[in-house]
This record gives sequence, C-alpha cells and structure tokens, in this order.
Amino acid sequence: MITRRFQLLLIVVVASFCVSMVSADDQQYEWKVGLATVKITPAEPVRMAGYGSKEREQPFDSVAADLFAKAMVFEDAKGHQSLLITTDLIGLTDAVLEPIYRRITEKTGLGRDQILINSSHTHTGPVLGLDANQLEYLKNPAHIEATIRYTRGLSDGIVDLAVEATNKLESARLSWGVCVATFVMNRREFTERGVRLGVNARAMADRSVPILKIESPKGKLRCVLIGTACHNTTLRGQAMQISGDYAGYAQQYVEKQFESAQAMFMQGCGGDADPFPHGSEGLARIHGMTLGKEVERVLETDLTPVRGPLTTLLEPVALPLQQEISKETYDKLERASGSTRNVASNLREALKSDTQLPASYKSRIGLWQFGEDLTLVSLPGEVVVDYVGLIEEAIGPRKLWVSAYNHDVFGYLPSARVLREGGYEMRGIYSGGIGIFSPDVERVVVEKVHALAAKAGRPDVKIHTQQ
Ligand SMILES: [Zn+2]
Repeated sequence: MITRRFQLLLIVVVASFCVSMVSADDQQYEWKVGLATVKITPAEPVRMAGYGSKEREQPFDSVAADLFAKAMVFEDAKGHQSLLITTDLIGLTDAVLEPIYRRITEKTGLGRDQILINSSHTHTGPVLGLDANQLEYLKNPAHIEATIRYTRGLSDGIVDLAVEATNKLESARLSWGVCVATFVMNRREFTERGVRLGVNARAMADRSVPILKIESPKGKLRCVLIGTACHNTTLRGQAMQISGDYAGYAQQYVEKQFESAQAMFMQGCGGDADPFPHGSEGLARIHGMTLGKEVERVLETDLTPVRGPLTTLLEPVALPLQQEISKETYDKLERASGSTRNVASNLREALKSDTQLPASYKSRIGLWQFGEDLTLVSLPGEVVVDYVGLIEEAIGPRKLWVSAYNHDVFGYLPSARVLREGGYEMRGIYSGGIGIFSPDVERVVVEKVHALAAKAGRPDVKIHTQQ
C-alpha cells in the first residue's frame, strides 16, 4: 500500500513537473510573427545613389542582384504589435517616409512607435525622391521623372508589404545571439592632410553581428534578422549595376540555405565603417557569403530565448547644431574627402546671405523592449561607431542591439571625438536642411536612449545606474 501511495505521489510529482516544463516552454511560444517580402528592383533604368561620380550621371545599366523590402510583424501574448521593415536602399528621408508611415498607420492601426523602417545603405541602389525641386541636381528632367515614378511605386509596395505582414500572423518562437563580421573596417585614415576616407585597422569598428531567429513552434526556421554595422560600399562609384551589396548577398545566401525562410538585414552604427577590401561585385558576393555562413554557423547553436511583453517607444529629439561655424571647422571640412568641401561652401553661402543657421535638427529615436531579454535601440541617420560604446556605458552592454539608419536618414550623426578630429563623417546634414552637429549632440542622443530604456523597463538600466 505504501509503495502504491509512493508510486501515485511520484506520478503526481512527475506530472506537475511536466506541466511546469510545458508552461515554461509555452512562454517561448507567446509570440505571433507575420512575414512578407516584396521585390523593389527598379523596372526601368533610373539614376543610382551614393556617389557623385561621372558614371553616375547616367541610369544603371544592368541588375547584378535584385533589391527587396521585407517586413516582420511581432505580436506579444497581449496582442501588442510592432512592425519592422528592412530595405535594400541607400536611406529613406523624412520627405519619402512621412507619407509611407501615414498610410501604414491608416491601413493597419499601428502607431508611429510601433513602426521601424531601416535601410541597408546600399550604394548600388536607386536615387529616391518625390519632389522635382529636391531632385534638381540630377539635371535631366526625364531622369527626375523616372525617379519620382520609381519612388511612388516603391512607397505603394512598402505600404502593401506592411499590410500583408500584419495579415499573416502565425505562432512563433524568438531567440537571439551574436556572431562576428571580419570584413568590417574603420575607414577614418589619419594622414598628414587630416582624416581621409581610407582604411584604419587599428581604429574601432563594431564587428558584432546580432541575429534574431524566428522559428515555428515545431522549430522550423521562418526568419532571421541579421545586423551588421558597415556601409554597403563594396561596390564603388564606377559600378553601374543594381545590387544590395554584401547585405543583399548575405540575405540571398541564408534564404538559399534555409529554404522557405526569410532573411532580413538591419544596418548598425557603421557610419565610419566600410567593407574591406572593396572594389568589385565579386568582393561584395564574398563578403555576403562570409556573413551568411557566419549566420548559418551560429544558427546551429542554441540561441537565447526572447520573451515578451513587447514595449514600443519612439520619441522626438532635437539634435543640436553649431550656429556659428569656426575657422577651424571650415578648415576641417575643407581638408576632408569628397563632397564635404561642398558642405563648407554651402555653409559660407548661407551665412553670407544672413540666413540664421538652425539651432537643432528634429529627429526621432526609438526603443523596443522584448521582456527582460532584449533591447533594440533604433537611432536615425548615419551613426558612427562611438555611439555603441556610449550607449553600452549608459544602459549596460548586455542584451542590447543598437541599430542605425532608421527613421529619417538625414545625414551623418558624428560623436564629439569625430567632430574634434574632423573627416568625412563630421559633414552633418545632407538631406532636409543644412548644418554641422554640435559636440553636445552626443550627450543629447545618449540621454534620450537612457530615458527610453528606463521608461521601457530595461532591467540593466537600474543595475547600471546604481553602480
Ligand atoms: Zn554613408
């Protein structure tokens, strides 16, 4: 009898243990995820963005690889959603993005804080624009019209993509991990003429590759989001073929290896990083395959589960600009590579005509908190690598993914160090205004990220603030 009772007790204990195992497991399945992809390769020849070279005065001549926009909708157990859209594009500005955000909100009911649009910053993609005046620099009216036509079609495609993803929610399990991209190289080379665009293997670059894995409850890979902090500039100004550069090839590789999975690419703080070496389509494919294989390798390991609830925040931020340009700043701008010289002459012109330089540039910073497991920071603009360390210091380095080239890509977001040293990345705003950021911009950005992380309940903020 005693034995029988013991057996029964054992069964009850084992059964309740199993129940608790199932409920712990269930927590991992509390997500629903919707996915969608749309090809955005221009159907007609349009001008290419990213370099002001002579060749680029003509439309592209061929397509080396198609461009895509991809969407992923997350829904937590309480039904709170967010929508991430990644694009093989150079950078979406406010002028192009605002109508897209508005239309997505109207069609899906998602608030602005729930929508995040990132650009891979490929330099072998199309010029974008909806306003003929802003595209005047293309000079050729037929080219301007073709660009506007393309951008309208692209906008429709992105809105439809968002709607499609929100309509395709399925139960999913999320996990994440970090691997490494060896081709990411700091490009701020110190020369006797100042900081030039080049190669600097001793300087800092964020070579980490965060990945977010989305599986079906049965463990089938449905999607992988890949982050890398590096310009998509393996192809230079002479390249006249459309291509997503290394990011496009990495997505292609992963999608080929894991049939039916969607690969997405999210740019990080690679404002001062270039792929190394660079200069050919072949190298873009090699870098893409290197990244794809690295992702594949890490997908073979056990990643860290990502649970809810999901908190989505997006707040306006006034990024401070220099209102008076010192002789020293002009000198640095004139010594820097390429079109930065034009920035100096534009500023001189503006000041000559008594135009008051604006005190700040209005942008937005976002933060999505996934339970206690992951914080995704979304910065705007071309952000230099220093911000990764600064943000880690402010809100703790663990369970953190810092992305850039989100929301409005208005120009470069330099650190105080970059502004002090000079070089191409100090050039500031190149779209939607004019201005060189003040060194104080660093503090403003980091304080905003800290405030958002605290508001979203990121656990490490408390730990870090107490230290
Ligand atoms: Zn850039």
